[in-house]
Amino acid sequence: MARRSTLAVVAAALVIVGSGVACGPSQPVATQTPASSGERPAPTTVVTPTQQGSFVSERLRMVEQQIASRGVRDAAVLRAMQTVPRHRFVPQELSDQAYADHPLLIGYGQTISQPYIVALMTEKLALGPGDKVLEIGTGSGYQAAVLAEITDQVYSVEIIPQLAQQAAEVLRDTGYTTVQTLSADGYYGWEEHAPYDAIVVTAAPDHVPRPLIQQLKDGGRLVIPIGPPGSYQTLWQITKHGDKLETRNLGGVLFVPFRGAGVGR
Ligand code: SAH
Repeated sequence: MARRSTLAVVAAALVIVGSGVACGPSQPVATQTPASSGERPAPTTVVTPTQQGSFVSERLRMVEQQIASRGVRDAAVLRAMQTVPRHRFVPQELSDQAYADHPLLIGYGQTISQPYIVALMTEKLALGPGDKVLEIGTGSGYQAAVLAEITDQVYSVEIIPQLAQQAAEVLRDTGYTTVQTLSADGYYGWEEHAPYDAIVVTAAPDHVPRPLIQQLKDGGRLVIPIGPPGSYQTLWQITKHGDKLETRNLGGVLFVPFRGAGVGR
């Protein structure tokens, strides 16, 4: 009981500080102010010319201090997080906070997840090049871009048409032209392109949508937060083995609620 009230206070605090009730950290972490550029050594990582520009050192610092330091090891994931220009996926007035250690509001009551959570979920998808991945909850398009750095078969579904449209435009403008987007209720997955090697869900339903399990390949991974809206949820990695599911608890998270017709069934 005591634990319950502590969590409620933490969740409320996140709202008050404006981080958004969503896509938050697995443990509450102090937010960091992104340092100004120019005081750090030149990047040691290769950044492709199309991604060059501002915030390169903020990105490298984000990966080192928020992601690698918390145990994300997958080289492809770290490279993707170093490469995707996160500031292009947040509202322009928030671009100086794009690399900070917390989620940000993106409009329509939705959020772009904290960088660490994006990295953790991507790592747990265990993607290889050429794998087909489905994201439910395109939001800003940022997670889709991170996936697109690893594989060229990325499909993403968003229920709010305006966000779907906006994300498709940003993905195109930032050069992530392989990402395919759809405005629909992601409870039902995206049947047309199934089966998928991996599926990531970035809003929290109260149960695992059955169509997503059906659209996973044998051996496929589903990374999904499950739990009640407005309270901490549990992030799960679910691996499909024939008609059996292997589940792994990845810890507590705070995501926006899953919407649509499938909720509450
Ligand atoms: N992955 C996003 C984070 C988005 S927040 C990013 O990188 O920015 C969660 C998103 O899930 C919101 O945009 C919300 O509208 C969307 N969402 C919620 N329920 C959904 C559903 N049933 N189908 C598709 N998208 C949904």
